[in-house]
Amino acid sequence: MEVSKLYSLPKLNYDYKDLVPYLSEQQLTIHHQKHHQAYVNGANAIFEKLDKARKDGTDIDIKSTLKELSFNIGGHLLHSLFWDNLTPAAKSGKPGGMLSDSINKEFGSFERFKKEFSQAAMSVEGSGWAALSFSEQDRPIIMQIEKHNMNVYPTFKILMVLDVFEHAYYIDYKNDRAKFVEAFWNIVNWDEVEKRMG
Ligand code: MN
Repeated sequence: MEVSKLYSLPKLNYDYKDLVPYLSEQQLTIHHQKHHQAYVNGANAIFEKLDKARKDGTDIDIKSTLKELSFNIGGHLLHSLFWDNLTPAAKSGKPGGMLSDSINKEFGSFERFKKEFSQAAMSVEGSGWAALSFSEQDRPIIMQIEKHNMNVYPTFKILMVLDVFEHAYYIDYKNDRAKFVEAFWNIVNWDEVEKRMG
């Protein structure tokens, strides 16, 4: 039987120290190597559990297993998107081209979009993400994802995400999520976000 592929931790396109002063080397390292890795391990462990139960013909708690699988795969995929939509400050700026046109058409201005996205990031219930998605009607829509997997619009492309789990910022910003959200705008990889419009 062919061995199924497992998830693995992706490499970052920049060094851990490259996002200073917006994210410290320690904050980024722990977030990537500990927290993201935990979701990778979690997803792989659940697949192993499922494989074993199916092979042995034993019962599993389907409801809790599927919930846990969705949480861990969601976590892995969102973190992978997150790392790639960040870039060292020097390369950053404002969106351009099609993305800029699309944001202006939907939100009226970049400033208005930035305000709404920041508010979404600030007000996620519990732990979660703010995400800019692109609907099947080519509208940019803000998603406020709780945990890693709730409030997601099925089939919408995800253009940009911001992790607002406390583990994303507690070393650098303590409990000051607003400061972290403000810092985020200095390290957005707009070229990558635009590319994801497809
Ligand atoms: Mn995270």
